[in-house]
Amino acid sequence: MKDTFLSVGEKHGGIVDILGVPIHRLTRSELLQLLRERVEAGLATWLVTANAELVVRAGDDPMVAAALRKADILVADGAGVVWAARTLAGVELERLPGVEIGEELVRWAAEAGLTVYFLGAEPGVAEAAVERLRRRYPGLVTAGCRHGYFTPEEEEDILEDIKEAAPDILLVALGAPRQELWLAQHQRELGVPVAVGVGGSFDVWAGRVKRAPAWMGDLGLEWLFRLLIQPRRAGRMLALPRFVRQVLRRKCLRRCGRNWQGK
Ligand code: UDP
Repeated sequence: MKDTFLSVGEKHGGIVDILGVPIHRLTRSELLQLLRERVEAGLATWLVTANAELVVRAGDDPMVAAALRKADILVADGAGVVWAARTLAGVELERLPGVEIGEELVRWAAEAGLTVYFLGAEPGVAEAAVERLRRRYPGLVTAGCRHGYFTPEEEEDILEDIKEAAPDILLVALGAPRQELWLAQHQRELGVPVAVGVGGSFDVWAGRVKRAPAWMGDLGLEWLFRLLIQPRRAGRMLALPRFVRQVLRRKCLRRCGRNWQGK
């Protein structure tokens, strides 16, 4: 575990363990303030917004777990992780979805004159996302756009392009856990002040994919909306009942252990 990860946990509300993945207890404003401070101090920061699917993947795949251990900040992306924190530790986490944090970063960059590099999604999507984002945040300056369907041979060129462009913020939309594996491998050499994996956000910003209405998000039903509009996600969604089972089993084991010890 990185020092940065632990010091962020110590300074801000602590860390809650979700099936072996530690999540920071940060509010949205604390997270954004922290990212601002770290950029001003010239500290490279990799932020992961973890959802239930990523937590299950980390439990299944040691490579994903090892990648997450290199992150500087981990927050709860979805309602599943928020529910698990409440169920396992009686702790309330704020839901900080990558798509919203990514957009907050874009807004901040546009206001503060920082540059943003967009890596990921299908060809043309990053550019379309930038075009639409710029209507909302006219000051947005991009350091570059690259699609996410590159071959291993093309990767070196992308890394060079990012290094040369030296963006203040790098948004990586390769989907989870590919973006986490990619950032774990390259974030240090890129030295970008803020790097964050934002999943399917470019598709949302480009207007190609709709987000669930706020009421569904509040009820923790964003997954259902995504399943309805993207039925091809059905296989991946099997992770969700597994997540619920694992959380309930963990809670049950803890309770049984406490009863056994007479506490
Ligand atoms: N993607 C990519 N390269 C790949 C696979 C996926 O750039 O090799 C993009 C894909 O086009 C989409 C995003 O990664 O824009 C993944 O979106 P999804 O909604 O599946 O991600 P999640 O938010 O669930 O991680």
